Amino acid sequence: MPRIEPSGYYYPNLMARIYLEAMEEIMGKNGLSAILNLAGLSHLIDNYPPANLKKEFDFADFSGLNGALEEMYGPRGGRGLQLRSGRAVFAKGLQGLGALSGVGDLAFKVLPLGAKLKAGLPAMAKVFSQVSDQQSTVEDAGDYYSYAMSPCPVCWGRTADRPICFAGKGLLEEGLHWVSGGRKFRVDEIECVAMGGEACTYAIYKEPIG
Ligand SMILES: [Zn+2]
Repeated sequence: MPRIEPSGYYYPNLMARIYLEAMEEIMGKNGLSAILNLAGLSHLIDNYPPANLKKEFDFADFSGLNGALEEMYGPRGGRGLQLRSGRAVFAKGLQGLGALSGVGDLAFKVLPLGAKLKAGLPAMAKVFSQVSDQQSTVEDAGDYYSYAMSPCPVCWGRTADRPICFAGKGLLEEGLHWVSGGRKFRVDEIECVAMGGEACTYAIYKEPIG
């Protein structure tokens, strides 16, 4: 599996570092080293990006990591690992950032559920637009919110016959859990660039499922 050609779009180092740490926690150091070798990223073994917000981690390498997960663990195993790592990224790193810092305030906590989603989802999108080259937008689509990210770091440079951006789904699920004070919501990827779509887009259904 050759390393994917650089995209010229970047995540902050911290986000990549947390993703790698989450993967290491889940699959062990040897497991992660194997993934990094497979993705053509062996220079990252024992050498994670620094914990800063400099935009230096190329989307192509983030996508390569996810491709290697699927290659090594199969579609189902790779999906599960991406989901878990995506959730960990939000839980460990994102909730204190920029636009999200107000979400923990009491004034936010006492809002009704619908208002929490309405304010919390654009706040999550704004964090990505602020700290990375991933522009995220949220639109009200009736039964659900349509959450689009472009360019997409999860599937950059890869193709598939089904949606494959599970890291983003995991991250959104964890974010929604936090924003809503512990509820669960259904999140489906309804458009994926890897399948020829214009932007990787998730439907986030307004009615909680848990
Ligand atoms: Zn994608």
